[in-house]
Amino acid sequence: AAKNAGKRRFAFFEATMYTAALHRVALESDLREALARDELLLHYQPIVELATGRIVGAEALVRWRHPVRGLIPPMEFIPIAESTGLIVPIGRWVLREACAQAARWRAAGTTDFRIAVNVSAWQVQSSELVADVREALAHAGLPASALSLEITESTMLTDTEVTLGRLHELKALGVTLGVDDFGTGYSSLSYLQRFPIDQLKIDKSFVDGLGGAAHDPALTRAIVAIGGALRLPMVAEGVERPEQVEGLLALGCELAQGFHFARPMPASELSARLAPTPERAVA
Ligand code: C2E
Ligand code: MG
Ligand code: MG
Ligand code: MG
Repeated sequence: AAKNAGKRRFAFFEATMYTAALHRVALESDLREALARDELLLHYQPIVELATGRIVGAEALVRWRHPVRGLIPPMEFIPIAESTGLIVPIGRWVLREACAQAARWRAAGTTDFRIAVNVSAWQVQSSELVADVREALAHAGLPASALSLEITESTMLTDTEVTLGRLHELKALGVTLGVDDFGTGYSSLSYLQRFPIDQLKIDKSFVDGLGGAAHDPALTRAIVAIGGALRLPMVAEGVERPEQVEGLLALGCELAQGFHFARPMPASELSARLAPTPERAVA
């Protein structure tokens, strides 16, 4: 009986894997059509100055409006896009769309607005990335200084020679380079000095430890201190509670994003939130 139960369990396991594999294959073929069918969209999450609450930029976060499955979050299709190479055309679309939207917000009066775009390891390895970034900026008429590219710490550590060369090429365009999910790479920190990095995004896991009596902020303090020592501006990710704002300010972190301020939202919603500058309001 035990043997049969084991067999049944295995059969169930197999069926589950089979279903998961089918699901993936189906999504993969759908994803090939998603761009042409105009099913991808961007949401924007404001990045705020902690001291004032002022919106200084936003991170573009891709979503897929699947005709049958509804809105699919990036973690469910970006890995498929990466393993199929679709990430290159999808990433190109994200860059173009995000830059065009940022240019509209700047033209509407938010003149110092900066847009952050996520770039995956796959894109960094691709020789097309630099041309795609240049073309997205030119097409939008957006100055390079208004674009920040977010590259995860783990990306920095894959094929470091190619990565280093690519980051220098991007840097030469004038864009800002940020390390995403900083602190989660369990890596040697020497890359911070070797690579042309302008900004660190402190991973949510370190922000979570701030502001609660039960938590010890020692690790967060250490992470922020690294950025401070290298004079790198820092953005705290995943700020959810008001106590965390004070904690971050006390540590010397000036920028943040998180549900406490705003969730990722459609462009139209962010447009409504971006107050016109005083000069413009008068004019
Ligand atoms: P990320 O770049 O670290 O983006 C931050 C993620 O944290 C977003 O999830 C955002 O919605 C979420 N978040 C922000 N504030 C809070 C908070 O206060 N609490 C919690 N619990 N979560 C918060 P999202 O949009 O699901 O994106 C997940 C990841 O997918 C991103 O992580 C990024 O690595 C990737 N991704 C998103 N868009 C793109 C893209 O256009 N290209 C590439 N290559 N990757 C992307
Ligand atoms: Mg990011
Ligand atoms: Mg992040
Ligand atoms: Mg993160």
